[in-house]
Amino acid sequence: MMVNQISHGRFFGKTAIVTGAGSGIGRAAAIRLAREGAKVALFDLINESTQKTENFINNVSNGVSKAFDVDVSDPVRMEKAVSETADLFGGIDIVFANAGINGTLAPIDEMSLEEWEKTLRINLNGTFLTVKLTVPYMKERGGGSIIITSSINGNDRYSGFGMSAYSTTKAGQVAFAKMTALELAKYKIRVNTICPGSISTNIESSTEISDELEEIIIPVEYPEGSQPLADGPGQPRHVADLVAFLASHEAAHITGARIVIDGAESLL
Ligand code: NAD
Repeated sequence: MMVNQISHGRFFGKTAIVTGAGSGIGRAAAIRLAREGAKVALFDLINESTQKTENFINNVSNGVSKAFDVDVSDPVRMEKAVSETADLFGGIDIVFANAGINGTLAPIDEMSLEEWEKTLRINLNGTFLTVKLTVPYMKERGGGSIIITSSINGNDRYSGFGMSAYSTTKAGQVAFAKMTALELAKYKIRVNTICPGSISTNIESSTEISDELEEIIIPVEYPEGSQPLADGPGQPRHVADLVAFLASHEAAHITGARIVIDGAESLL
């Protein structure tokens, strides 16, 4: 039995779904939304890691969350988890479509169709399903806020060797967000993308790199000062602040926007 001890905050009375909530940006955003009163459904593949986020929110932050072991690219499991969230928490107001992978980094003539499709399936199909399945619940609520994690890669910068699949998905998410923002405006559902630069998370550790690329790959460690504003990579909490703003009433007139959050990295 969960007891909501937080009874105030910008998101009190709201329900949020955060995908990729087991780690990095998603975890930071889930904690931030819960601290401001939202009940948060944590969608991620890695249940153990997601349970750590759940445990932190429920037992340390005095918030309310529930972990769902779900692959965002699996339509059956997604539909079930979304509907369980709405039943449990009484609707859906905020959706942070954030789960994503770098996928395989390989030169284009070395990349297999399977590797290409896997990145598209998780990053693009996952975003599509997250939005498609939650929109009916936000329509019922008379509005909502959808935030999609894209990247400066594929939008502001094209310097990552072997990142053709990843960058394609990140550019595609922006087009998807703009089209759906227009389509959903009459329902007061806002759709925005955020484009982080390098953020200190686990994403590099899940990246597969082809042997050939290993020899010419960009350094795994970002050089100090790679973000002029931060002396290194940004932190998940920086992105969580932006997510909370876009989810809030203060962003009530912002939709279809693409917001770069990279400490000027893409300007170098
Ligand atoms: P992360 O690896 O720390 O977290 C990503 C989470 O998504 C993990 O918990 C992982 O289990 C989950 N996930 C992966 N595939 C999934 C699936 N099929 N279903 C459900 N969950 C899945 O990485 P992060 O850096 O926090 O990445 C979050 C988002 O930010 C991604 O979309 C990524 O492309 C984007 N991004 C990251 C950076 C960066 O430098 N870290 C920069 C720009 C954009």
